[in-house]
Amino acid sequence: MKEPQSVKDIAKNSGEPLARIEALEQIPLPPPFDKIDEEPPFAQLTDEEREKYVVLDDTIAVNIPKPKSKEEEDRLVKGFLSGLEKLMTVEDNWTFLQPFEMSMEHCAHCQTCSDACPIYEESGENELYRPMYRSEILRRIYFKYVKKASTKVHGDIDLNWEVVARLIELSYRCNLCRRCAQTCPIGVDNALLSREIRKIASMEMGIVPKELHADGSVLQLKVGSSTGMTPLVVKDNIEFIDEDTAERTGIEIETPWDVQGADILLIHNAGEIMAWPENPGAFATVFEAAGLSWTLSSEIVAYDGINYGVWYDDIQFARVAIKHASAARDLGVKKIVLGECGHAHKALTVIADKILTGDLNIPRESSMVTLRDIIRSGKLKLDPSRNDFPVTLHDPCNLVRLMGIVSPQREILEAILPPGRFREMTPHGVENYCCGGGSGFAIMSGHNFSDWRHRLTGRKKFRQILEAFEDEPMDIEHPKYLCAPCSNCKGQIRDIIAYYDAWEKAGIYYGGLVELIVNAMVDVQPGFIDWEWH
Ligand code: SF4
Ligand code: SF4
Repeated sequence: MKEPQSVKDIAKNSGEPLARIEALEQIPLPPPFDKIDEEPPFAQLTDEEREKYVVLDDTIAVNIPKPKSKEEEDRLVKGFLSGLEKLMTVEDNWTFLQPFEMSMEHCAHCQTCSDACPIYEESGENELYRPMYRSEILRRIYFKYVKKASTKVHGDIDLNWEVVARLIELSYRCNLCRRCAQTCPIGVDNALLSREIRKIASMEMGIVPKELHADGSVLQLKVGSSTGMTPLVVKDNIEFIDEDTAERTGIEIETPWDVQGADILLIHNAGEIMAWPENPGAFATVFEAAGLSWTLSSEIVAYDGINYGVWYDDIQFARVAIKHASAARDLGVKKIVLGECGHAHKALTVIADKILTGDLNIPRESSMVTLRDIIRSGKLKLDPSRNDFPVTLHDPCNLVRLMGIVSPQREILEAILPPGRFREMTPHGVENYCCGGGSGFAIMSGHNFSDWRHRLTGRKKFRQILEAFEDEPMDIEHPKYLCAPCSNCKGQIRDIIAYYDAWEKAGIYYGGLVELIVNAMVDVQPGFIDWEWH
């Protein structure tokens, strides 16, 4: 296992990886995946890739080309310092200045946060992935080169282009899950520092992974969705989903579009419409059965709750959030309900609170709460015996840790599962572990990045899933349901299950929460959950 020996190493050995993970030295998984030498291979970067792009470790996320001249090298350093200076001003960073400054100025170096970080743990405690390693580099740059403070007090560091480029790559080795922030005794938020580094890279230097910006925010603002769906296409797709759902349930539905004055504007993550159509179909079935007044919007951007800016760029973030709120205002709805997407929750309910004022400040609600209220209302006739299989629940970080939404989803599960079928992961709720796809990772798979995330960021979650089902026969004859009420988490969980072949080998299947509700509805034909791997 290669790892940096000190914070200062970030400036050394240009072209050499600072850290390497020996896959065979990782902590083995629980049975039946406990033979580490039988795990899928961890693809290595090619010499050509290492030659072309900045090298940090075993993978590449951002694709920063190596500078070809002294001018290009200087531009990286100057751009970074200029961005860092701006982050420390009210004018340029009024949204996050206070927590950023607090996290920069105060760290007791107690290392409590390290124990909380699943990436650090699953890397075999490699120094590069220690939460504080990244933060301390940023702090030293700030104190030495921006604040011109004493290096004796704050620690020394050399600043060259390698430091800048590697630090930007390193900001994309963090899920922004904030598990570390939760444990810090003085409230330092290492995830915020990772995101602020990403902000400097994007907003000041134009450096950002293509999946998040060109294929994400830019596409969403241009055509309406980062999936590429235009308003016409999304309406077509929903029509098809309505027909398909009616065939499966035996209940005719017609998803309402652009209903002026509806109580609820439902915003899905458009990835659901493309990859998991049973989820929007199930929402429509439940909302109709409960007699809600609701609508989708066919306004550009407003039919896709995705907001990738939440991971890397305040301007991109604000543009998308304002589109969401404007569509709701123009329809005159009473509230926005966010579908099963954790980062859409974070974006529109928490972060957007800083920018949605006046008539854009429309109440926003989690679908976990809406669905819980429907269950409580007694409007659905439910037969829990239809869900007679083992179920565990993945808690999306943004729902639980950020927003404290822990009990509604559990109350729903209690109403729709037979006694004894639900088992909690350990730990869960606000103490949960990220799925490993947080901060954009679930949609990033350039080079060998997906191998890196399965082996480093998703491994802890996979371990938890296996432990939750440990008392069950682990084969495909005994299907188990991993309930993940978040589109981003589902993408990551689908990838982990496929990587380890856990459906074929252990019968681990996954899906959302609302699908389980429909599966228990008495008025619906049995078998809404089809157990077909896709
Ligand atoms: S935010 Fe999560 S992934 Fe990032 S350093 Fe903290 S615990 Fe680790
Ligand atoms: S960030 Fe907080 S928990 Fe981590 S070392 Fe600093 S003071 Fe300790």
